[in-house]
Amino acid sequence: MSRLIVVSNRVSVPKARGAAGAQGGLAVALGSALKENRGIWFGWSGKEIDTFSGSLNMERVEGVTTATIDLEHQDVEEYYNGYANRTLWPLFHYRIDLAEYEREFGRGYERVNERFAESMRPLVEPDDLIWVHDYHLIPLGERLRAKGVQNRIGFFLHIPWPPTRLFVSLPYHERLVRTMLEYDVLGFQTTEWLESFLHYCDKELGAEVSSDGTVRFGGRETVARAYPIGLDYEEFTAAGDSGVARNAQQRILSSARRRKVMLGVDRLDYSKGLPERFDAISRFLDQYPESTRDTVFIQIAPPSREDVQSYRDIRDLLEAKTGKINGARSEVDVVPIRYVNKGYPRAELFGFYRAAKVGLVTPLRDGMNLVAKEYVAAQDPEDPGVLILSRFAGAALQLDGAVLVNPYSSEDVSEAIRQALDMPLEERKARWEKMHVSVKNEDVISWRKSFVDTLRG
Ligand code: UDP
Repeated sequence: MSRLIVVSNRVSVPKARGAAGAQGGLAVALGSALKENRGIWFGWSGKEIDTFSGSLNMERVEGVTTATIDLEHQDVEEYYNGYANRTLWPLFHYRIDLAEYEREFGRGYERVNERFAESMRPLVEPDDLIWVHDYHLIPLGERLRAKGVQNRIGFFLHIPWPPTRLFVSLPYHERLVRTMLEYDVLGFQTTEWLESFLHYCDKELGAEVSSDGTVRFGGRETVARAYPIGLDYEEFTAAGDSGVARNAQQRILSSARRRKVMLGVDRLDYSKGLPERFDAISRFLDQYPESTRDTVFIQIAPPSREDVQSYRDIRDLLEAKTGKINGARSEVDVVPIRYVNKGYPRAELFGFYRAAKVGLVTPLRDGMNLVAKEYVAAQDPEDPGVLILSRFAGAALQLDGAVLVNPYSSEDVSEAIRQALDMPLEERKARWEKMHVSVKNEDVISWRKSFVDTLRG
């Protein structure tokens, strides 16, 4: 069996199953794939050095070999904080108003992708399968081809792909897509993002696009498909069956003092629709003032990417909104919104999800959204809560038992909250059962297997 080389911006070495803690399901899934296939995980160590050397730090952890490189401060500024997080991330989440097109960012991005290619080249053996992850590394396949790598190479995009009319606002958009067509397999989270990509290939690039997603261009053939990512269901539910999870559930329930808990869990990111969600809560409390006494909204929002100004801005905005909403409605013993600026391990999150009668997942745009799936996985089958889900999250295509909303409309979200709080048990169960089948079966292991099977050819 051929070896697998996984490449991502950062390398996250998986701990033993069951002890995953705050670790992402992706790390666990890729880790188990690497163990099965005697693989290597390659990426940036997270360290900064004065002068790039390209030397590989090899380690063997939990049966997985990792190979990492250090980057220069300027690399991190231009490639990671710059092109990846200030150009591609906002643009791919439809926020061209926030996208910054600095020439240095583009250069840094090209330079780091070249550095990745150069450093990993000696690791590649003729039969290896190479699987590149996410928007940080789009041109990596093409850089490897330029160094004579003939192996099967696949790429998976974890975030949305924007509509052609937005995507063409990116300088050198054509160059970026041409590099993608050097891969053998391209994976997207949903058919929606896949269709946008194929539309670009057809209309802008003039490539030959078949209905099965094969793109022929410049004498090469690339297969593009949708592979919706899932949870590591087994690992997550095992974590839920622990004292940590039960304590977390109790902690929320006893502090809520019989009020119904509504919960949001999101990285602090402008794509998650948090200000809009807070406005919807405010509207809901205006419409149903008695709900201030019988509900509590808890928002867990760990800060992220604080080197980027737009992330500092969203944090300020949310602090102001929380203060205003709470200031206007609190009593000495009642505070409507609890806004928590820190992250929790996933076993605790399981308990929080289970304690919540309503899960609010209302991103303005999201490649998939795993929190929505975790909320479903954590519910009590005999008394499940209701998921309110943005129709603009990739997960909405699978989770049709959720109450789907337009996150831009506070009226829509406020009505959905009312509907969720009043929903009879029978309907809650019917909706949950449908979603649970999908969350359980379409898990991260099946996602990884179907991608790697296609990559194998
Ligand atoms: N998460 C966590 N602790 C927290 C908040 C989030 O471990 O305090 C995890 C969460 O369980 C989920 C992931 O972070 O697995 C977020 O994934 P998602 O697809 O929802 O959004 P992303 O942050 O990748 O945009």
